[in-house]
Amino acid sequence: RAKELGTARHEVFVEGMDTQAVERWQLETDLRAGLQNQEFQLYYQPIISLKTGKIAGFEALVRWVSNKRGFVSPGDFIPLAEETGLIVPLGQWILQEACQQIQRWHEQFPEIVPLIMSVNLSGRQFTQPDLVKQIQKILDEVNIEGDRLKLEITESMMMNDVETAIDLLRRLKGLGLRLSIDDFGTGYSSLSYLHRFPVDTLKVDRSFVGRMEEGSDSEKYIQIVRTIISLGHNLDLDVIAEGIETEAQVRVLESLNCEYGQGYYFSKPLSAKDAEELLNQDKEW
Ligand code: C2E
Ligand code: MG
Ligand code: MG
Ligand code: MG
Repeated sequence: RAKELGTARHEVFVEGMDTQAVERWQLETDLRAGLQNQEFQLYYQPIISLKTGKIAGFEALVRWVSNKRGFVSPGDFIPLAEETGLIVPLGQWILQEACQQIQRWHEQFPEIVPLIMSVNLSGRQFTQPDLVKQIQKILDEVNIEGDRLKLEITESMMMNDVETAIDLLRRLKGLGLRLSIDDFGTGYSSLSYLHRFPVDTLKVDRSFVGRMEEGSDSEKYIQIVRTIISLGHNLDLDVIAEGIETEAQVRVLESLNCEYGQGYYFSKPLSAKDAEELLNQDKEW
């Protein structure tokens, strides 16, 4: 077929497109099967209070262990799940699973108060008309208070239609939920709106944290992180620094009065079992 269309060059181009489309279609098929076969798991990365050195909560991070493909990282399937709409049932499952987990840990470790579960919300989920109702239903079914659950959204999700987004965030706050802005500083920035977003937390993107010590620009990155932290504090928000990998980064962040930290220095994302083990140890950093 492609041959009939013209030059050899054209043929390569058309075949390339085919391959891409087929690969995409296969990934989509596998994603659907994966949902059916329950190939998804949640991992949990601890979020540490830099004041006490103790676990303050976890961020739930989805993992796909495909029968066919093995481990597929979220960076490779979340965008497609988003495009195809599969993120909606997947995201529903993620919320439910994360809420059930925090409920179990709350019962097992009542002395760690309040242990909070953060869950990433995708753009597509954010525009589902019944999002608030769905979350309300999950909270009721799992029987947890809304303030145990924190949703992570990004600036870009807010900026499509700011007024509608603010209204949605207000309704989510109405359920008692906590809200974070994830990857702060990397999105389509919105300083003129930030003070109107009813959020509780800013998460400093790991690209800033990671550059605080290396290279000739490190001093500049420390200043950028300092500025984000001050901005958060001026707006009465807590700040979480993401992607902390070294003790030196912890020291700098402490000196900048950053409340919370998350990253490989403390712990990689863990299976529920391993996370529970950490809670059992009452680990302190
Ligand atoms: P994110 O929400 O910003 O999550 C943080 C990512 O940084 C995670 O990657 C985590 O494993 C990684 N990370 C944590 N500490 C460190 C560190 O010290 N160094 C480095 N280099 N990386 C660190 P992960 O799990 O691969 O997830 C990537 C992204 O995929 C997430 O970024 C989030 O945008 C998306 N994602 C993951 N799970 C979910 C989910 O359940 N739902 C949705 N909608 N998106 C998800
Ligand atoms: Mg996140
Ligand atoms: Mg992030
Ligand atoms: Mg990120």
